[in-house]
Amino acid sequence: MATIVPVPVSDYRGRLAPSPTGYLHVGHARTFWTAWQRARDAGGALVMRMEDLDPDRSRPSYADAALEDLRWLGIRWHEGPDRGGPFGPYVQSKRHHVYAETWRKLLRCGFLFPCKCSRKDLQAAAGAPHENASRSAAAMRAFKLEAVDDEPLYPGTCRHDSWQAPQLPGPTGVNLERPEGTNWRFRVPDGEVIEFEDQNLGQQRFVAGIDFGDFVVLRRDGVPSYQLACVADDGAMRITEVVRGADLLKSTARQILLYRALGLQPPHWFHCRLVVDHNGRRLAKRHDALSLRALRERGLTPMKILSAKLPLTT
Ligand SMILES: [Zn+2]
Repeated sequence: MATIVPVPVSDYRGRLAPSPTGYLHVGHARTFWTAWQRARDAGGALVMRMEDLDPDRSRPSYADAALEDLRWLGIRWHEGPDRGGPFGPYVQSKRHHVYAETWRKLLRCGFLFPCKCSRKDLQAAAGAPHENASRSAAAMRAFKLEAVDDEPLYPGTCRHDSWQAPQLPGPTGVNLERPEGTNWRFRVPDGEVIEFEDQNLGQQRFVAGIDFGDFVVLRRDGVPSYQLACVADDGAMRITEVVRGADLLKSTARQILLYRALGLQPPHWFHCRLVVDHNGRRLAKRHDALSLRALRERGLTPMKILSAKLPLTT
């Protein structure tokens, strides 16, 4: 089937970044449709990037299904794993050199520290009483929020102020070629207010150290975190506007810190309200009946799926 994609006539560069860890559902359809519409209305380019860094949950069959489902919806892109382009590869599992370079840059500039804590340590720390009562209250509150986001508020166990990052290439205690073996965290500026104007949801405000803590950029198994990979790729692919779900608002605050640390201009942000089920829960794998595949098999058209009245939340 011939694909008609309008030639970009502006500098706008948007992206579609599905994770191939399951079938796309009606919530993804709305967000990706919005991303496509905004790129089209701006006369810009749209990039397809497959975010398959999670080695345990990513499946090539889901990646193929995502491309197929999005094409079925009527969404078209200019660059991607299936089309090539000047900023490839467009599959994250083939971009480890980009993430290693970004990690080295952050490390040399003193933004990172090594962290030996296990997930268990962090959960124990978040649940245990803390010597600083106000910090503890904030940590408890943030932990509850973080639990639905992606990581608990870091209690600061390994945040030695004395740990000096190597400023220049050369022999150091850190192997700059093979960062594996420890988690690497970004030290956030405690108390700093991170504000940004969201093109859809308006002014947003988060406080570093309270709404989110020192976050992982590289895991001990060598897998970069969402925050690192996303910023490295959006920067390298010259993305000018990020359209994604409102569940990632707090990630945006973290990513703004990464852009600053790397000396990069952040893109504009447009976060879409999330589709929820009738109990107000975000759509997830358990909602297989709302996958695009299932709806299509039931005979629904893209138009029906995109225009159906569905409960939304932020
Ligand atoms: Zn630690």
